[in-house]
Amino acid sequence: MAKTNEHYDKLQAGYLFPEIAKRTRAFQAAHPDVKVMRLGIGDTTEPLSPSVIAGLHRGVEKLADVKTYTGYGAEQGNTELREALAQRYRGYGVTIEPDEVFVSDGAKPDSANIQSIFSAESVVAVQDPAYPVYVDSNVIAGRTGQWKDGRFEGLVYMPCTAANSFIPEPPKGKVDLIYLCSPNNPTGAVANREQLAAFVAYARKHRAVIIYDSAYAAYISDPVLPRSIFEIDGARECALEISSFSKEAGFTGVRLGWSVVPKTLACEGAEPGKVHRLWNRRQATMFNGASNVVQEGGLAVLSPEGQRESAAMVAYYMANARTIKQGLEAIGLTVYGGVNAPYVWMQTPGGMKSWDFFDKLLNEAHVVGTPGSGFGPGGEGFFRLSAFGHAEDIGAAVTSIQNNLKL
Ligand SMILES: *Cc1c(COP(=O)(O)O)cnc(C)c1O
Repeated sequence: MAKTNEHYDKLQAGYLFPEIAKRTRAFQAAHPDVKVMRLGIGDTTEPLSPSVIAGLHRGVEKLADVKTYTGYGAEQGNTELREALAQRYRGYGVTIEPDEVFVSDGAKPDSANIQSIFSAESVVAVQDPAYPVYVDSNVIAGRTGQWKDGRFEGLVYMPCTAANSFIPEPPKGKVDLIYLCSPNNPTGAVANREQLAAFVAYARKHRAVIIYDSAYAAYISDPVLPRSIFEIDGARECALEISSFSKEAGFTGVRLGWSVVPKTLACEGAEPGKVHRLWNRRQATMFNGASNVVQEGGLAVLSPEGQRESAAMVAYYMANARTIKQGLEAIGLTVYGGVNAPYVWMQTPGGMKSWDFFDKLLNEAHVVGTPGSGFGPGGEGFFRLSAFGHAEDIGAAVTSIQNNLKL
């Protein structure tokens, strides 16, 4: 008698984006002449840059010729790409060996799969609010209890509030796995060195592991802010990092990411080398490598020309972020983020619930955003606005908010 994984029945998320779509559809059906504008998407909108397109073409051409054709590649990724990624970390003043870099089909799968190499008994801490994958992958693996009063039992929520600039303190009690995302989705907050050093000190003291998501590192323009957890002394002993070409180079549909698992990383009961070995084993067993065509595109992103082009793409989205941030501030709204991250995190006016504000913004300004409460209990009373979109559309949405939102 087959039974399904009972932990799936506990999941709550999956509700957020379908509910946004449902309410938007209902509004559009009732107001067919209104143009609904979107500041809700966490997806890139601008085309791939010329050198990346050329790289992808090179990948295709290699497959067209018997002399350069390749089939399965290494599960861990193409050597040249692993070396180029290690070289990027050298640019941050960090030593990462190429064989500590594992190329993948994206940061979402890696951040969902990484938990599988750790004990089922691990106590998990997440930022609240957080990217939903960290929570849901651990719910599915059975590391939490039931959903009760808006949170999962057994999960440690680290509150991110205006008072701590949306970067939490390390937990008071002992936890085993700590998920950190900086620059943060959804709050747009970026952790500074001192804040990350506090987590590294905590993890070393408690033999915990930090799972650091740096998918938005390319959006940091302030030179004092760390782009990698490995810029913090001691992080190679207690942290691993997951990252992606998605937001840096518009690869959300192309699919390419990587994880860095240092051979020096250790935890309770695992000598240095073991966590690295387990992730290698996991990937070799469950994953057959990223597309060879796409890895050529990734190499092109990391070329000097590719880096110039992706910097221009990031600057384009960050100009949108400024449009949103300044436009909302001009009408007296309180907003956070949007400076070194493509998300603006807005406090709802008058203490409105996130979903009530969603309806108000849609009805009055015809703008769709993302209710903060969809990212965890700490997101209630907040709203995420995304800088991904065409500049003219973002400008029109902000103008509509300024002219039509009743405050
Ligand atoms: C978009 C995003 C990613 C990227 O995921 P991919 O699978 O590489 O597209 C990872 N983490 C966060 C927090 C994100 O918002």
